[in-house]
Amino acid sequence: MRCCSSSDSALDEFLDGTLSPVRHARVSAHIAACDECTELLVELRVVDALLLGPRQLEPAPNFSFKVMADVRALPAPHVPRSRSIAIVSTYIVFAWAAIGAFLAFGGASARSAVAFLLGAATRFGSETQSLAAASGRLFGHRILDVTSAMGALLAVDLVGIALFVAGYLVVRARRAQTAGDSW
Ligand SMILES: [Zn+2]
Repeated sequence: MRCCSSSDSALDEFLDGTLSPVRHARVSAHIAACDECTELLVELRVVDALLLGPRQLEPAPNFSFKVMADVRALPAPHVPRSRSIAIVSTYIVFAWAAIGAFLAFGGASARSAVAFLLGAATRFGSETQSLAAASGRLFGHRILDVTSAMGALLAVDLVGIALFVAGYLVVRARRAQTAGDSW
């Protein structure tokens, strides 16, 4: 708490020189005897000096260089990957849940599809079309759709994973390059 609650405005006016001579002398005498008002007066003088000082602020000559150096020294911004990972994971979980449901409740056709896929796994490099066509010859029209859907799903998964990895590598390389030399 200040010793004198009404001194703020009096000090302002004292600094501005708008007090009457009598009051000016009284405030001046009080300031001489009061440490807190002396301190406050110093603060007010600093504030006034700042407010009345040159208003046009010129940045230091090396301002841009210094800021950019500071920015360069910062760690690379962390780009959250959890969202895309969540989307991919959800997709994979649902896709394979659908496949699992088919295998669990598909009966004989599901067992046939499993047998065929196990056999086809050894020559998995072949195209989805030939996989589907072969299963179609073996198991009839209905299994053609299911197997081709599963084959397509596998192919999409593989392509998706490949794209994800390639994209990640490209983005990471580009980010490293950007952080390295663009500024
Ligand atoms: Zn005082």
